[in-house]
Amino acid sequence: MIGHHDRAMTTRFAPSPARALRALLVPALALAASASLPAPAAAQAEFRSCLAQLRSAAAREGVSGATFDRALSGVEPDMSLLDLLNRQPEFRTAIWDYVAPLVDEERVEDGRRAMAAYPNALAAAEERFGVDRHVITAIWGVESNYGRNMGKRPLLQSLSTLSCFGRRQSFFRGELNATLKILERGEIPVEQLTGSWAGAFGQTQFIPSTYQRIAVDFDGDGRRDIVGSVVDAIGSTANYLARAGWKAGQPWGYEVRLPRGFSESRVGRNNERSLQEWANMGITRADGGPLTGPDRPGLIAPAGVNGPAWLVFDNFDAIYAYNQAESYALAIALLSDRLRGETILRTPWPTDDPPLSRVERRELQERLLALGYDIGEVDGIIGSKTREAVRDVQTRLGMEASGRAGLVLLQRLRGG
Ligand code: CA
Repeated sequence: MIGHHDRAMTTRFAPSPARALRALLVPALALAASASLPAPAAAQAEFRSCLAQLRSAAAREGVSGATFDRALSGVEPDMSLLDLLNRQPEFRTAIWDYVAPLVDEERVEDGRRAMAAYPNALAAAEERFGVDRHVITAIWGVESNYGRNMGKRPLLQSLSTLSCFGRRQSFFRGELNATLKILERGEIPVEQLTGSWAGAFGQTQFIPSTYQRIAVDFDGDGRRDIVGSVVDAIGSTANYLARAGWKAGQPWGYEVRLPRGFSESRVGRNNERSLQEWANMGITRADGGPLTGPDRPGLIAPAGVNGPAWLVFDNFDAIYAYNQAESYALAIALLSDRLRGETILRTPWPTDDPPLSRVERRELQERLLALGYDIGEVDGIIGSKTREAVRDVQTRLGMEASGRAGLVLLQRLRGG
């Protein structure tokens, strides 16, 4: 995701705790950009002997020695990956700060242009897999900003390093073998196999084992190329959602209003009840329409019962399967609604300091630069340098030094 988005969020194996949402918090979107360092000699030797084992294991999976050697003979381990593997989120992000940059005007406009560029592929994906084009496009937009940021780390280096060092080696060995099979079959050129530190790659950031299971050749050129072919990525993403239980023609959910004093204990994606039961509790549809829907929905209210709430159907669970985080599924769902031209967030987030879009984040960074803070490049990403500067400027302005970049701070800076 998303350069600014911690790739760990999208690797399909590191679910962020849904429970954290109930406390308003999700893992921060941190940058995963530490530099590659030469490994010490002992690690180099260990890596070489590990590669010899991996070569035999790959052969048992049908990967030829020639492919293995071509792919890995010149690769050096990148020990900086171990820090990323072991990193704990050092900063927690409120749900509104998570959603705002993923569902901002820029991503909506870019998404509308992206949809206009691929009408036939999206129509074909709807036809073959039954999956709503707006949801496919929203995943593309959140995962790689519509192909603008697919991740630059060489997959073979990352996955071979993580296959030999650190925890989860057996998981990464499976991903390495799945990557080698892509090369064995000549489906994607090695120089295009770059992605997140944990191996998610392509327009919609599949990990290699997901690619092997799910990717389809949707443009008919004989290769499943989710990097170079947007059409293949669209078909593959639709196939993912279809396999995750997407039901054609059904909504993911819709926003509702909760009655005053609604019990928090009734909230839950898996706390499914009939529409009649929800209606009996005083829940109404936020757009004023009747409570309708295909099945027994759950109820989510990620900022608590005083914030916006949604009834969510089986298709929400299909989106959830993509990244196993309710915050993620909600961002995709809301972006898909915006792409469809619908209004979202009829009930605002319960904060008096609204979150910033990416445009506003860049403006904030420009203002911090102008004040003399060394925050690096203006990229709309609130990383540790920007947060430090925010903390400092908040102190100088007599505000609480939270390090959080919200609208109140931006307005104070605009006012001089
Ligand atoms: Ca293809």
